[in-house]
Amino acid sequence: MPEWPLVDSVQFAKQHAVERRSVAVSEFKRLAQLVLSDEGEFEVGLEGFEDSEGRPCLQLHVAGSMTVTCQRCLEPLELGIVSDHRFVLAESEQDLMDPGDEADDVDSLLADSKLDAMALAEDEILLQIPMAPVHEENTCTQPQWSSDAGSEGSPFSVLGALTNTKD
Ligand SMILES: [Zn+2]
Repeated sequence: MPEWPLVDSVQFAKQHAVERRSVAVSEFKRLAQLVLSDEGEFEVGLEGFEDSEGRPCLQLHVAGSMTVTCQRCLEPLELGIVSDHRFVLAESEQDLMDPGDEADDVDSLLADSKLDAMALAEDEILLQIPMAPVHEENTCTQPQWSSDAGSEGSPFSVLGALTNTKD
């Protein structure tokens, strides 16, 4: 299994390093438990840089798709996820940004000399999965009500029979 080597996050940022790789859904251990099949792959990119204030930052990019269960029709649903997330590296707990001050797609992350980029990417994907993933409106597989039921199976004839018993 092509494990992503642990990276020294601050060094990675200061060196403006760039890493990109394709990761199969099955290589993400937590994600693999949520999906219907092992098919699917994510492009994961990690880019180091310093922001305008000179703070070391990481830009994480994930894009790919996986198969989950539609919570409306219970049929397989291909869920595409694309996300970009910026992390400002903090040298200490005290330097971590107040979550209220952070923009939606910017977080502070404690500097780590052994950052697990795979876990960071997996966290990002997990965060993007909706609570109840469903097909787009009107594209769910419809239940097969009337394929071979014929008129005898019609709910209206049953209703007619019920009302007739009152005579
Ligand atoms: Zn559906």
